[in-house]
Amino acid sequence: MEIIKRPYGTEDVLPANSKSWSVLETFLRSTAEKYGFSEIRVPTFEETSLFSRGVGETTDVVQKEMYTVLAKESTFTLRPEGTAGTIRAILENGLLNEPLPLRVCYILSCFRHERPQKGRLREFHQFGVEMAGSADAMADAEVISLANQILTQLGVKDISLRINSIGCPACRAKYHEALKAYFLPHKDRLCETCQDRLERNPMRLLDCKSEICREIGKDAPLILDYLCEDCAAHFEKLKADLTLLGIDYTVDPRIVRGLDYYTKTVFEFVTDCIGAQGTVCGGGRYDGLIEQLGGPATPALGFGMGLERLLLVLEKQGVTLAEPTGVDLFLIPMGDAASDKALQLVAALRREGLSSQMDVMGRSMRKQMKYADKLGARFTAVIGDTELAEGKVAVKNMATGEKIDLPLDDSFTARFADIEIADRLAKETV
Ligand code: ATP
Ligand code: MG
Repeated sequence: MEIIKRPYGTEDVLPANSKSWSVLETFLRSTAEKYGFSEIRVPTFEETSLFSRGVGETTDVVQKEMYTVLAKESTFTLRPEGTAGTIRAILENGLLNEPLPLRVCYILSCFRHERPQKGRLREFHQFGVEMAGSADAMADAEVISLANQILTQLGVKDISLRINSIGCPACRAKYHEALKAYFLPHKDRLCETCQDRLERNPMRLLDCKSEICREIGKDAPLILDYLCEDCAAHFEKLKADLTLLGIDYTVDPRIVRGLDYYTKTVFEFVTDCIGAQGTVCGGGRYDGLIEQLGGPATPALGFGMGLERLLLVLEKQGVTLAEPTGVDLFLIPMGDAASDKALQLVAALRREGLSSQMDVMGRSMRKQMKYADKLGARFTAVIGDTELAEGKVAVKNMATGEKIDLPLDDSFTARFADIEIADRLAKETV
């Protein structure tokens, strides 16, 4: 029978890579914690209207990319991003009643029906943070600083921070008019999506990936020339704060971001080392979203970091997050009595915090040796009737060939632990 394959655009994380994921996740949570962000976990699917209201009717995500499932009489949507569900949970659970700002972070899977490419999947993972309550640009600087610290401490090189302000609904209305006036004479040459965007959400035209739309848009008016006084001051303050923090940035007036809810600050961390999908982290301020989702008017902001893209960058740049765990001691019993003893020893070693294995496949001694070698066991010990009778066993250091006799009694695990630590220390000092 043929095997069933995974859905197009999804990925399996295999045992050889899963440790990098968990090391990364632990690092992300602990770094976010230092900035006061605590983890929130929300459902994988939500009422469809949460995303049409929250992410925006005119976005690609809502118009084309949502996975909406019919379950009995209700329809739900698999989350295409983390912010809407997180804000929903914050409101539903009254978290804004606590002293502000509220800072939450999450690691979750997102689902978008896109054309799969390198760094673009249909199920992908994001680390994200949301901070609610502060309208000050200092909050923007803090959030950007967190993303920056994460990327720096991971050792990511050649990644640049681009910032922009896309204003508030007041200044954006004027900008939309200017954009429409600019693009209208070229309407017939725009791609089909952009012809539609022109009426509904002209700013999205600047984000179109089609060659022709880019060409037409290259002299389009820039939002920064249309900012109202408040938005302009906010942007200036952010730039000053980033400079105070020693964070390099470039102002890129063409960043508009894919989701409708952004106001004022938007930013991206971009690299060109993994091809076309180079935005590793994207975020910004969304001062209107909480109210739009039925909550009290509350300024807020956040970012989402694509973990597959981040891992691609790390791999490309030769950064390893985790070594394979390996096996500290592989026991090779000969005979039933030795096998019983080995079973107990393996369990005792594991309780001691060591990793230990023994054969469970009925292999011959020679094959067990080979298998221990393949596992990269650091130590092995053959236990037979003689060892049982003498009450001691020779533990062999596989790297040096050195053998040390250990008593086969209650002190075995502690004695082995000493040898194991000494071996680690010796390796470190070499
Ligand atoms: P892009 O412009 O690359 O489509 P986006 O603006 O749609 O990104 P956001 O919705 O802001 O992205 O999501 C935040 C981050 O999540 C992105 O910067 C990226 O790292 C990651 N991401 C978004 N879509 C995908 C995807 N389909 N596959 C893998 N990662 C993704
Ligand atoms: Mg996208």
